[in-house]
Amino acid sequence: MLTGKVALVTGAGRGIGRQIALTLAEYGADVIVNYNGSRERAEEVVREIETMGRKAAAVQCSVADFTACGKMIEEMLAEFGHIDILVNNAGITKDNLMIKMSEADFDAVIETNLKGTFNTMKHMYRPFLKQKAGRIINLSSVTGLLGNAGQANYAASKAGVIGLTKSAARELAGRNITVNAVAPGYIDTDMTQAMTDAAKEAVLSQIPLKRAGTPEDIAETVAFLASDKASYITGQVISVDGGMAI
Ligand code: NDP
Repeated sequence: MLTGKVALVTGAGRGIGRQIALTLAEYGADVIVNYNGSRERAEEVVREIETMGRKAAAVQCSVADFTACGKMIEEMLAEFGHIDILVNNAGITKDNLMIKMSEADFDAVIETNLKGTFNTMKHMYRPFLKQKAGRIINLSSVTGLLGNAGQANYAASKAGVIGLTKSAARELAGRNITVNAVAPGYIDTDMTQAMTDAAKEAVLSQIPLKRAGTPEDIAETVAFLASDKASYITGQVISVDGGMAI
């Protein structure tokens, strides 16, 4: 399904990003595994992809750093020849009720989740336009659709990702480049492990399908959007949330 394609996945050393990298490789893509702090885990992902017979490389870069994103993309284009699929998965939370939320925690979440998505997209615009082909898949969240008490910074960043996605989809549609967002619900990763048992129970009770999602649930949707099978889908937000946002 993705043979001959090269994918860049941000934050791919662990969690959902790791699974996206592995699934894209299972479908035949070569994968650039971006990480920020998790070097060893990213290198493990690279080894797993290489054992599938695909090419992979781990590359450190904070997506919040515009210049570093440009350098990463330039280097990876030189190494892989082309990049066909960009998955903006890197994300952080710094939860607190607004009354207690610091300006620094608001800024940090916007810088990584929203500006980070802009940063990589911006640097991939020209290569994609030149290729007259490309796939961009951005990770939003059910929180970006519904809001959530204690996550105003995160909700704003993920709602912002939707606006960015739809605008870029309109700008790029004429060149055969699709831009979509995936909005996960409650997925079992380090990010959600940090929640208290009571908070986890409260979320689970709001999921019509009565279970937490898995990184595989998200990765399969991303792989579909990255494939030729999804060539007539752009500017959409696909919820993968067990029905949370119904
Ligand atoms: P994790 O906390 O498990 O992993 C976060 C990932 O983001 C890590 O790979 C981390 O890399 C990377 N990352 C963080 N900051 C940066 C940065 N500045 N530059 C590059 N990479 C960075 O999160 P999940 O896997 O759960 O989440 C993945 C995405 O899915 C996020 O965008 C999240 O908002 C979204 N999402 C998750 C949900 C869930 O329930 N888990 C629900 C809805 C959306 P490193 O370790 O190398 O620093």
